[in-house]
Amino acid sequence: MGAKIIDGKAIADKIRIELQEELKNLKADGVEPGIATLLVGDDFGAKMYRKAVERFCGEMGFAYREETHPADTSEEEVIKIVGSLNDDRKVSGILPLRPFPAHVADSAVINSINVNKDVDCFHPFNMGKVALGEPSFPPATPAACVELMERYMLGEGIDPKDGFEGAEICVVGHSNIVGKPVSFLVLNRNATITTSHVFTSMKGNLEKHTTAADYLIVAAGVPNLINSDQVKEGAVVIDVGINRVVVCPECGTLNRGKKEPCRECSADLSDAENKTVGDVNFDDVKEKAAAITPVPGGVGSVTNMMLAKNTLRAARLMADM
Ligand code: NAD
Repeated sequence: MGAKIIDGKAIADKIRIELQEELKNLKADGVEPGIATLLVGDDFGAKMYRKAVERFCGEMGFAYREETHPADTSEEEVIKIVGSLNDDRKVSGILPLRPFPAHVADSAVINSINVNKDVDCFHPFNMGKVALGEPSFPPATPAACVELMERYMLGEGIDPKDGFEGAEICVVGHSNIVGKPVSFLVLNRNATITTSHVFTSMKGNLEKHTTAADYLIVAAGVPNLINSDQVKEGAVVIDVGINRVVVCPECGTLNRGKKEPCRECSADLSDAENKTVGDVNFDDVKEKAAAITPVPGGVGSVTNMMLAKNTLRAARLMADM
């Protein structure tokens, strides 16, 4: 029959409407939520993300403060800038855009952010609260995974409380940004959780865990890591991966770049098409799963809304509301 496609864009649009109502009420009470980005150096990915945050603030109606500084800015200077963002009443949330230059330690910057402005939950205090099951700011991407699962359950007439309790959930990936925090978020909902990672694969055990899961959350950054053989019949699959690939025009294999010939059939890739894909082989898995998120248009679409939700929460905290 084919899986139900969980439409992240449509879900994000609904959440946006809910949040804009909340924003209107906050502004009526004189509270103006705002986000600041902190970029040091000129990393391409970080610069792209900065632009996306600025655009997103414009769309949401949030104030925006840009702090972009040259790569030779000292760590001491960067921490002073964080201090000025901590003190700025117009800044509710601070987003440090990594990577920083080698002489600026991530931990030094992150530990200096006011924990009440740490809207993407980088600070160890806030991560600790996630582990304890009382998050102030659930990190945006993991929270988006949970939101998508909840909305799927509601659409199927399942009370999310019953849906999570005792559910067999497997997470693929154990990064501090996605895999670990999403594992905590669903554990806090009383799911039975297995967190697998590259070492699970190296021991040949990945499939054993993924095929036992009613809900499979994949955040590995490896295109086509998960095929239908790795998925239980009727599972719900949440694909977090975002991979830019080059599709071989001859055999369809996904390659990492255009410079080398196709890794499967050696075809020339110089004119091949670029594509963004997840970690799950969508066309294959959708024939076996009950539901699946697409890439793009799945987790990524909802992530921004989770960040917006945290920004509103931070603005209320600052206003003692
Ligand atoms: P990361 O590189 O920090 O971690 C990757 C994780 O995958 C590690 O735990 C690693 O052990 C595991 N892994 C790698 N190869 C594996 C294999 N063969 N088998 C099993 N596990 C394997 O990456 P990350 O920051 O956690 O991001 C993961 C993916 O999610 C990336 O594609 C990233 O672009 C994407 N992402 C998406 C969003 C979003 O909003 N949609 C946000 C953050 C990250």
